[in-house]
Amino acid sequence: MKPMGPVPPWFSAEEGMLLIGGCGAESLVDEAGDTPLFVYDMGIVEAQVRRFRAAMPEAIDLHYAVKANPFAPLLARMAVQVDGFDIASGGELEIALEAGMAPDRISFAGPGKRTDELTAAIFAGVTINLESEGEARRAIAAGAAIGKTPRLAVRVNPDFDLKGSGMRMGGGAKPFGVDADRAAALARMVIDAGADWRGWHIFAGSQNLDPQAIIETQAATIALAARLSDAVGATPPLVNLGGGFGLAYFPGDMPLDIHPIGVALDQALATRAAILQGSRFAIELGRWLVGEAGVYLTRVVDVKDSQGERFAVVDGGLHHQLAASGNFGTVVRRNYPIAVANRFDAAPADSPVTLVGCLCTPIDRLGDKVALPPVEEGDLMAIFLAGAYGASASPTAFLGHPPPRELLLG
Ligand SMILES: *Cc1c(COP(=O)(O)O)cnc(C)c1O
Repeated sequence: MKPMGPVPPWFSAEEGMLLIGGCGAESLVDEAGDTPLFVYDMGIVEAQVRRFRAAMPEAIDLHYAVKANPFAPLLARMAVQVDGFDIASGGELEIALEAGMAPDRISFAGPGKRTDELTAAIFAGVTINLESEGEARRAIAAGAAIGKTPRLAVRVNPDFDLKGSGMRMGGGAKPFGVDADRAAALARMVIDAGADWRGWHIFAGSQNLDPQAIIETQAATIALAARLSDAVGATPPLVNLGGGFGLAYFPGDMPLDIHPIGVALDQALATRAAILQGSRFAIELGRWLVGEAGVYLTRVVDVKDSQGERFAVVDGGLHHQLAASGNFGTVVRRNYPIAVANRFDAAPADSPVTLVGCLCTPIDRLGDKVALPPVEEGDLMAIFLAGAYGASASPTAFLGHPPPRELLLG
């Protein structure tokens, strides 16, 4: 028996059936047409946005990192919930604009932006978070070529990282941003070239559950932004403080308490350096906003035994929900929370079951020796925390199965 992560607190059952957004899981499959299916409950996303606003100082804008979940109906709803979108490709630029987000509230980060992507972003009036000096030169040339002043911020590779993060994106040698000791010179170059300098983007890490680590990183980020701005001799219109708010995916994880983060941030902003007095500040979040809102529903096709171990084989797999298989940004494979949706409140069986996907590869393992009620052919399985880095972050073409269905509720 191996432990599972905690089922997020939003879910309950009615007559044994898992409810998502107040609807029975089986009736949602009927509505969508079939399994495998991702269901996203917009009510949970909106509740997370409210929690953020209640805890954070009013001066903090909330940005959504589109890569966490780019499902178009969700993005359209998100556009009126948050203050900005952060995108990371030309494709995300198109869907962000289609979702109705104002171009001057979109910022475009990410390494390896092609010149045609830079041109499209400048044409649209989107802010480009520059990842290098070379990218700055190409963006300035692209603006000149179409006769438009580019909006350019500088992404900084900070000289610290967010301690205990699931994914480190700052500190040490990194492909993201320019090193802190060259960032002021780059901003100066951007200003001298006549571009519209929008400020700093400082992202130090992701998937963090330690409020104290986030508090320290935010304080260090504000201090770094002040130091760099003094070196430039200009007030940055926006300081993007990064994000890093994590989710409790795995056994032993405690949900992140954001309240102390808001209190500390309020203090840090109140005592900020003079050069940042006229700046706006933003926090960019992906998974924390949408992760708990998603459930991946997949049907048991076969139940079989091998050498005393029971396997339940489902019609979905890592081609839709790679993260639950442990192959997306985790070092050790651990179990996501899983339930039998049609026997949600039943007691677990005496012996565990291993949940595997339908792909012919040993890495397609969705739940390893988990304690579940007896699983039968035809049962509907629910894998939680599927709202972020699910469908769009999985190798859907692998092995030629159909793509998952997706349904937005609320
Ligand atoms: C991926 C990413 C995010 C979102 O990360 P989450 O862990 O989903 O909150 C935010 N900012 C940048 C720059 C990113 O690359």
